[in-house]
Amino acid sequence: MKKPELIDTASLSLMLTELRLPTIKCIFEEFGTRADKEGWPAARYLAALAEHELAERERRRITRHLNDARLLPGKTLDGFDFKAVPMISKAQVMALADGSEWLERGSNVLMFGPPGGGKSHLASALGLALVEKGWRVLYARTTDLVQKLQTARRDLMLESALAKLDKYHLLILDDIAYVAKDRSETSVLFELIGARYERRSILVTANQSFGQWDSVFPDPAMTVAAVDRLVHHSVILEMNVESYRRRSAEKKKRPGPGRPPPGATGKDTAE
Ligand code: ADP
Ligand code: MG
Repeated sequence: MKKPELIDTASLSLMLTELRLPTIKCIFEEFGTRADKEGWPAARYLAALAEHELAERERRRITRHLNDARLLPGKTLDGFDFKAVPMISKAQVMALADGSEWLERGSNVLMFGPPGGGKSHLASALGLALVEKGWRVLYARTTDLVQKLQTARRDLMLESALAKLDKYHLLILDDIAYVAKDRSETSVLFELIGARYERRSILVTANQSFGQWDSVFPDPAMTVAAVDRLVHHSVILEMNVESYRRRSAEKKKRPGPGRPPPGATGKDTAE
């Protein structure tokens, strides 16, 4: 029987490179020494190597998907102060962050509220949680994405551009109401919404609720149809709070404990 030290580790390394098993290549010697010392059965050694290769592969995949998602840096669910938005349920948001149910059905999330209320933060943080769970997400300012799709349409590539977005289980369209009022712009948005309907999810944030969406889609019939598709299977989060930034700035100015923001109704929303 050959002794373990007679194995040509250099050529084994080459084989592992050829097989694209970089993690096993890194650890097989160290694990081998341990396995010999502790008398692991061969199958246990092999299983340990395979497990590490898979775990590392998953980690790299998530890192790649995170880079690809273009999320806002530093915005997490942990860093989101739910007390500042008492009208939304943390439990409901946490359930959304799990993803499986609504993303599989292609349902949508709609976040409404005035500027500074935390829509972009919460949307991006949800995206981050979902990527970490293995879902594909793309965050985009709606105007940027619309511009890209318009360029694609000019090059007669709209269909394939829309198809490329299919790999994302969730598309975050931040600030949909800021899209310029231009018929060709908004019709790509309309096609995007139609293309994903009941298949792939969209998360929309908007400063204005549907009543004012005629400024998003210039044609009222288009507005009705787009809203109808977005709403059909959706969770709506109304975030009607005073700007978080302004509140934090005001709180710093005041000496005492936080008071409710001016105009806040009902419960104290300051933490
Ligand atoms: P919106 O998109 O609704 O205009 P943002 O998400 O951009 O609001 O929020 C403005 C700033 O305030 C961001 O820096 C965000 O991280 C912060 N912020 C808003 N709401 C909260 C909150 N509830 N908890 C923590 N930070 C918040
Ligand atoms: Mg925003």
